[in-house]
Amino acid sequence: MRSVVEIDISQIVKNADAYEKASGKELMLTVKADAYGHGAVECSKALEKAGYKHFAVACVQEAVELRKAGIKGKILILGYTPPEEYKDLIEYDLIQTLISKEHADDLWEVSKYPIKAHFAIDTGMNRIGLDADDLDFTEKVIRENYKRFNLLGIFTHLSVADASDSDNVDFTDGQIEKLKHVKKRVEDLNIKYCHCLNSAGGVYLKERYGDFARLGIMLYGLKPSYTNVLPKGIKPCLSWKSYVSMVKTVKAGESIGYGRTSKPLCDRVIATVTSGYADGVNRLLSNKGYVLVNGKRANIIGRICMDQFMIDVTEINGVKAGTEVVLIGKSGNEEITADDIAYMTGTISYEVVCRINKRVTVKYVNKD
Ligand SMILES: *Cc1c(COP(=O)(O)O)cnc(C)c1O
Repeated sequence: MRSVVEIDISQIVKNADAYEKASGKELMLTVKADAYGHGAVECSKALEKAGYKHFAVACVQEAVELRKAGIKGKILILGYTPPEEYKDLIEYDLIQTLISKEHADDLWEVSKYPIKAHFAIDTGMNRIGLDADDLDFTEKVIRENYKRFNLLGIFTHLSVADASDSDNVDFTDGQIEKLKHVKKRVEDLNIKYCHCLNSAGGVYLKERYGDFARLGIMLYGLKPSYTNVLPKGIKPCLSWKSYVSMVKTVKAGESIGYGRTSKPLCDRVIATVTSGYADGVNRLLSNKGYVLVNGKRANIIGRICMDQFMIDVTEINGVKAGTEVVLIGKSGNEEITADDIAYMTGTISYEVVCRINKRVTVKYVNKD
């Protein structure tokens, strides 16, 4: 094997349990993007077995995949579904987010069916949803579509719930206030659910308003942003290993890799590793990132190639072909997390795990 991701399914369930306890909210488990690269089917099966009943995905294809795998829980599609794909919504008993008046009109036009739905409300993210600042219009559209669809909920999405400075905290409070105003306008309809919390919102806000926390990144043991502190018991559940394919000494003045970006000033022992950017190793880690070998940090040397990259193992004993290289996870007393890689590459852990490619072998373990 050359590149292997190991996912601890029991830890995913433990994370959900720990988060439920810390937030005091019922959970809607966000398993979009193949459960943030952790495998939506495997994760959802384990979570359903543990008693969780609400799931959220991004699109109809992800929802159908879960149904075909036998997931019986409620599945909310958080984003746009083209109206012409409405048949899947009915056939697979899915819940669709209505993202705008036009989306609702078009979906009704083709389906003429009381599809289960939640209406998205825009309270400041400016992404999808009815404008909460235009209460008259938003109320009218909700009432109109309440008659057409089986409207089970309204929800909004928080854009800075992971921030703790007063300006952003005020903004989040304002978003929740706006959702409450919309809810009040349609109180008489008794719409079952009203929700707004993401991972950050469910544990960092003073007031955790609404019926669910839509738990995403923390379900996988990662942080919404690098400076956040995770609730007790929540840990990463994905590790990523690769292997040394060969070791050589590179003489002072020679160059390493594409573009000859690395030219050691003295002799170095260089090992080649069997993963590359086509596996999901971010090329921005070139000459910048590190991996773990035999419990020590080894710097990435030269540019990340499509299928392999080079590391400096001069200071590390016993490295040879076949030696394990940890890209994410623990080695001895050292640990490197997706959050660390995100920090080094100027992105967020969400993207690091989502980008691990299909070519990587996936192993599921249950450490219970
Ligand atoms: C992805 C997503 C979530 C989960 O967000 P996390 O930050 O991963 O917890 C919740 N709600 C909506 C609408 C989303 O798109």
